[in-house]
Amino acid sequence: MSTADIYLSTTIPYINGRPHLGHALEFVQADVLARHYRQAGHPVRLQSGTDDNSLKNVLAAAAEGTSVADLVSRNSAAFEALSGPLQLSFDDFIRTSSDPRHRPGVERFWRACAASGDLYRKSYQGLYCTGCEQFYRIAELDGGRCPEHGTEPETVSEENWFFRLSRYAGQLTEEITSGRLRIEPAARRREVLAFIGGGLEDFSASRPASRAGGWGIPVPGDPDQAIYVWWDALGNYITSLGYGDGPEAPEYRRWWAGPGQRIHLAGKGVLRFHAVYWPAMLLSAGLPLPTAIYVHDYLTIGGAKISKSAAGPAARAAGPAALAAAYGPDAVRWWLLREVPRTGDADFTPERLVARANEDLANGLGNLVSRVTSMVHRYRDGVVPATGDLAAGGTPAAAAELAAACGRLPAETAAALARPDFRAATAALASVIGQANRCIEDTAPWRLARAETAGDPVAAGQLDAVLAALTGACRTLAAELAPFLPGLSAKVAAACDGSPGRLPAPEPVYPRLDAPPAS
Ligand SMILES: [Zn+2]
Repeated sequence: MSTADIYLSTTIPYINGRPHLGHALEFVQADVLARHYRQAGHPVRLQSGTDDNSLKNVLAAAAEGTSVADLVSRNSAAFEALSGPLQLSFDDFIRTSSDPRHRPGVERFWRACAASGDLYRKSYQGLYCTGCEQFYRIAELDGGRCPEHGTEPETVSEENWFFRLSRYAGQLTEEITSGRLRIEPAARRREVLAFIGGGLEDFSASRPASRAGGWGIPVPGDPDQAIYVWWDALGNYITSLGYGDGPEAPEYRRWWAGPGQRIHLAGKGVLRFHAVYWPAMLLSAGLPLPTAIYVHDYLTIGGAKISKSAAGPAARAAGPAALAAAYGPDAVRWWLLREVPRTGDADFTPERLVARANEDLANGLGNLVSRVTSMVHRYRDGVVPATGDLAAGGTPAAAAELAAACGRLPAETAAALARPDFRAATAALASVIGQANRCIEDTAPWRLARAETAGDPVAAGQLDAVLAALTGACRTLAAELAPFLPGLSAKVAAACDGSPGRLPAPEPVYPRLDAPPAS
């Protein structure tokens, strides 16, 4: 088994508002991968953070009448604090305005691209969406409006630094088609290749410092210009590793320049920036590229697009911390992992979250663990029969099939997470939960117990085999669930822990959730 280092990153959101469920989706996906790879023996570094220097934060602070520093500090803390309610195992969290590692790294990265001759000054006029912090071509607009925001872009004319993206089309295509830079799912890879094939235009890399209100990092050697989002925000993936101290910095050498994997998670809205701009910037600076970019689609809430600028009461109630407080971390993580497809947007409602948790976790897993541990207590005084007894008296087919399914489960979840397909992975878990509950119906341990009491030695051996298979299934589920639902997994593991001899007295591991209050 390969146990190479794995560096996983989420995008760093700009923080002109509070965290929403879309952020939670990406954080939870990254956390599942981190926990999964740690469980498999890989050293893992899971990183997140906040894009403090975004112009959007400057605009939001002005609208609120507060200072940018205060707004950024407050909202960044709300993002970092999600690790509690969502049970996220971040190893590092970078705040780009205040982390001392960031600015020197951005400056070094900029200078490395400048040294390659890829940064040049140019006067520029274009259609600019402040919500996106992006210039749009007319063909990219939706009836003259921003496709993300539905607002009319402003005409902005200014002198900027530009990056020679056009130079890197061939190398980028080669990195992606060779598989050295994986982009998943395949539809997103094709989209990126088509975009590159359509011709790459140089892009603007700085803003007049005056428009940034003095916020952000000045261009080295040109303090009238502020470094724009690309070097600043995307750069976090290496600045957090100490790249500002140079490419010999130990963390940078290990996690970015080492032989392991470097995996970014990102939403479809920033695909182009992660899969085209960022690798081209790294090529320009002579630095290694990420090895994979995993792209997720978007969530809607009650049929409406999540947008922090239009955060109504429904969106606030669907904030990740509020949901975790109301329904528990397991239910929130489970909905995000079990219901959100690999491609295509998914619609969230509290009713769907409750229904999914009750079906899979309360009626499915909770019921299973409760029935199995109760039967082990009732029929075997709390002591799980040894699996060596499986053959004695002939193992009922349903129990043997359950044991085989449990044997296959780790490889199935690992294969799903390698794609990654979180819904397929959780479906594999749910399938074994269902099979184990059916195994109880099929083998009817209560009938075997009556026959055993009546003196039937074959029934006694079969009951041993069934209880061993069922307890084994619960233990396998606890282990395989750990990356997905660390809290519930620990409860199931404790309920099925027979290490001191007897299982603990049966207790419900997952009570049914009440229906959400009518809105
Ligand atoms: Zn926009």
